[in-house]
Amino acid sequence: MASEPMHIGIIGAGLGGLVAAIAIRRAGPRVTVLEQAAELKEIGAGIQIPPNSSHILKRYGLLEKLEAAAVRPSALVFRSYRDGQVLHALELDPAAEKKYGSPYLLLHRAEFHTILLEEAKRLGVQVTLGCTVTAIDFDHRRVHIKGASPFVADAFIGADGLKSSCRSALLQQESLPKPTGDLAYRIVVNAKDIQKHKELRELVDKPEMNYWLGPSAHVVSYLLQGGKLLNVVLLCPDNLPEMIFTEKANLLEMRRFFEHWEPRLKLLLDLVQDTTKWKLMDSDELREWRDPSGRFALLGDACHATLPYLAQGAAQAVEDGAVLGELFARIDRKAQIPVALSCYETLRKKRTTRIVQESAALRHTFHMDDGAAQKERDRRLREDEPAEGFPHRWADPCFQTWLFGYDAFAEVEKVWPSGRKEGGAGDEERRIDITNGSENEKAICERC
Ligand SMILES: Cc1cc2nc3c(=O)[nH]c(=O)nc-3n(C[C@H](O)[C@H](O)[C@H](O)COP(=O)(O)OP(=O)(O)OC[C@H]3O[C@@H](n4cnc5c(N)ncnc54)[C@H](O)[C@@H]3O)c2cc1C
Repeated sequence: MASEPMHIGIIGAGLGGLVAAIAIRRAGPRVTVLEQAAELKEIGAGIQIPPNSSHILKRYGLLEKLEAAAVRPSALVFRSYRDGQVLHALELDPAAEKKYGSPYLLLHRAEFHTILLEEAKRLGVQVTLGCTVTAIDFDHRRVHIKGASPFVADAFIGADGLKSSCRSALLQQESLPKPTGDLAYRIVVNAKDIQKHKELRELVDKPEMNYWLGPSAHVVSYLLQGGKLLNVVLLCPDNLPEMIFTEKANLLEMRRFFEHWEPRLKLLLDLVQDTTKWKLMDSDELREWRDPSGRFALLGDACHATLPYLAQGAAQAVEDGAVLGELFARIDRKAQIPVALSCYETLRKKRTTRIVQESAALRHTFHMDDGAAQKERDRRLREDEPAEGFPHRWADPCFQTWLFGYDAFAEVEKVWPSGRKEGGAGDEERRIDITNGSENEKAICERC
């Protein structure tokens, strides 16, 4: 039987929505992305692309383009906030690629977004801008759009981010993300300006990602654009008013918070001309990501917003998209969409919930006040061999394998071998199977 033509609508052209569009389009269906912004632009800051994400982008033939714009970090280094001394360093390049088959990359968000957008368009995805979805009629597979006629498709993916109106529509009540108590200053500094200061040169001469751990705060720095820019993120207590999500920052206030940190950081912050504060939000696990009709599901920050402390938010959205693409490749009738979306939710929910929890736990690990617990953390980082529960979470061998070794394609193949398109009897069994934990999940030790 020939495949029935399908049309999938994706709400939101962020990193998550675009990867889903690429993945689903590659599987065959027609895809339209509805984006509220009149013009697409990502914020001017960096993003870490870990191997679990680059593995997917490599499969989509995008690695070469990404690499042309990226920096490969040599190591992920934890430092003491007081003097910058190294507490623990995890080698990333070439170790990550050797172990996981794809590299750890650092990219400017705008470049990442452009590469995804170009690929989506090349594949024939229709990206419609200036299109704000205001309501969803789940029963009739129709979304309402501000100032325009409703849009109908065979299924919808709600990839509209942190303040998702798709999530509110699904829950039938306003659903706001949860403040975490922290905020981020997102900064980019020209490497040339940094190089003028000999004390700071190490930060731009070596492609290391640095994490300074201190009381109630931490600082992350890494290079972008072949080393032309240094991305700096300051994570500290949220003092933005309630319901204010971003605000132009007061540079004096920012510098004052970090005045007792190592002198290099103070000097670096003196170079900052302008920055914005971002309230950091996360989410409780939703009971379901789908509506009862089975033709709508959430994706990315809309259903698993997380603190960025594991640098996995977008990577999880990329994994979501890849899993969806693999499932759409296994169906050829519209009636099978509910099975595919059910399988998607079951495959993705447990992992993304754990990422949100691990990211929240890192807040405690990173932000310890001076004292006995902090001294013990630093001793372990300096002296212990990384093992289960190691405070440098990426260096914990068990956790790292779970995090970076996730293979979205293999996970789908395990529960739904390719070539089986029937999507009828037997799918229910498979769903039960994965609800109980896939082999990959089972292989993970109790502790991590
Ligand atoms: C400081 C910081 C650092 C981070 N660092 C990393 C990192 O290093 N690595 C990593 O993997 N992740 C990182 N993240 C997380 C990552 O940025 C997010 O998880 C990711 O961007 C989410 O993508 P998304 O597509 O789900 O949502 P978004 O990027 O928010 O996209 C949602 C899209 O939907 C559109 N939209 C919203 N409402 C509507 C509507 N009603 N109708 C139509 N369109 C709509 C929006 O305009 C937007 O384009 C970080 C986050 C922060 C805050």
